[in-house]
Amino acid sequence: MTKKDDDNPLEEIQKQLRDLMNNKNVQVAFAPFMESMKASTPEDKEEKKKKPSTPTNEASRDEQLDAIRSFDRRPKEIRDYLDRFVIKQEQAKRVLSVAVCDHYNHVRRCLSDKKLSKTEYVKPNVLLLGPTGVGKTFLMRNVAKLIGVPFVKADATKFSETGYVGYDVEDIVRDLVKSADGDVELAEFGIVYVDEIDKIASESSRNGKDVSGRGVQINLLKLMEETEVGLHAPQDMMGQMKAFMDMQKGSKPKKSTISTRNILFIVSGAFDQLGENIRKRLNLNRIGFGSAEENLSSDESSNRFLSQAETKDFIDYGFEPEFIGRLPVRVACEELTKEDLAEILNSSEGNVLEQYKNDFLGYDINVQIEKDAIDKIAEKAALEKTGARGLVTILEKTFRDFKFELPSTAIRDFSVCANTVENPNKELEILLEEKRDQLDDSQLEDVDRFAESFKKESGFTLKFRKNAKIAIVKESISENRSVRAICDRKFSDFVHGLGIINQRTGKKEFIIDKKVVDDPDKELSEWVVESFGKHKET
Ligand code: ADP
Repeated sequence: MTKKDDDNPLEEIQKQLRDLMNNKNVQVAFAPFMESMKASTPEDKEEKKKKPSTPTNEASRDEQLDAIRSFDRRPKEIRDYLDRFVIKQEQAKRVLSVAVCDHYNHVRRCLSDKKLSKTEYVKPNVLLLGPTGVGKTFLMRNVAKLIGVPFVKADATKFSETGYVGYDVEDIVRDLVKSADGDVELAEFGIVYVDEIDKIASESSRNGKDVSGRGVQINLLKLMEETEVGLHAPQDMMGQMKAFMDMQKGSKPKKSTISTRNILFIVSGAFDQLGENIRKRLNLNRIGFGSAEENLSSDESSNRFLSQAETKDFIDYGFEPEFIGRLPVRVACEELTKEDLAEILNSSEGNVLEQYKNDFLGYDINVQIEKDAIDKIAEKAALEKTGARGLVTILEKTFRDFKFELPSTAIRDFSVCANTVENPNKELEILLEEKRDQLDDSQLEDVDRFAESFKKESGFTLKFRKNAKIAIVKESISENRSVRAICDRKFSDFVHGLGIINQRTGKKEFIIDKKVVDDPDKELSEWVVESFGKHKET
């Protein structure tokens, strides 16, 4: 047990208050705390009672809990669901599907059979190995979504042993409660994902990293087994005080801890060096048998060995035997080839290319992606060596300027080929040049939008004739400025000028034709002069 476990939270509060009082430079902002306390005044409680509860939220929360308590999925169903989103990683999908079904079946049975809940249970916590961007997190996020349990992810490198310096391992369980909107019951069935676990192997700390890897492993181990985690961290003074005041006020005691008994833990890492170590071990074992693997040394080839990792390999890598022992399900994800990356763009539901297409649809622009463009994007993304993340990099490079320019043009569809991916700026220029003289209604509507906001600000209606709108749009194209910027510039003096006219004549509506657009100041001053004449006449 660490010292922290023995600490009484109230003592901790007292100590922190004493520290605060002794430090005259410390200013304590009580406002947020008082705000949170205000919400619990008797009047507020009455107010709350009067307000109707939101039945939809309540129902969905109960439905969610019911679905978890009556979990009846089969591993193949989970695999089939994952197939819709995740390309490749067949082995990982199979292994995860089984682990998840086993775990939530066990949870269901324990809830109805108290005897079973007292028996020894080895939780199928998972160790996912594999390079970055190949779908490790994506797999688990989708699993959590399918089952309807809260999900959180954190990097092991952020954890500090004591929690006073950095992020405490227990904070991740508290984050799970946050991701379940404060619902502890739901959070107790959640999935916690800890990435970069390979960085807390004690070997890496010996190599100069400021992470007390062993201590973090031990703390994580406790969570993975079964423990109660306080809902408020000992150093979270506000939270502790609120809990204390609630207790003093005699309000119904709320659960102040969350049990990790049914929380499923997934830890993952790239384990760059491990593949190489296993390769050496295997080659050593084969000395004299003319191993074909001897010449393999690239990252790519050593990654392949991760699937052959054994417990001893992890211990040699710097993990505590107990820690590795709590991760009985181990599976390696494969690297994604350029063909896999193309497959992601072609068939993974909701993939990043669909997002880009949707972004353009937001401006009523249809994008047609040719097959050779997909292949080129995949080829370039593979060179990035960041798995599917490389796709985002390449798509961003390809479409960045299109996204900026096209919404202000008349272009409503365009097609993307390998050349566009190879040289986006040149292709964009060609496209803009081809359609330079084309105008469409959406651009003319930009002028109407300006007229609307002008009316809101000044109370005057500007009625633009079509030839005036066309003149403005053409000017915006030739100057490469937005319609809005052109209008702002042309009509900057109009609020004042029209105000004078209005005082003299009461007029509130003004026709803007091409003549006004061509020389707005001249026209405005003529109108003003004219209004003086009118005033005299009247
Ligand atoms: P990591 O393996 O580092 O956890 P992620 O799962 O976070 O990588 O992948 C980043 C993103 O790349 C995902 O959100 C997803 O959009 C995409 N992606 C990664 N791998 C795959 C895959 N095998 N199939 C489909 N999309 C993938």
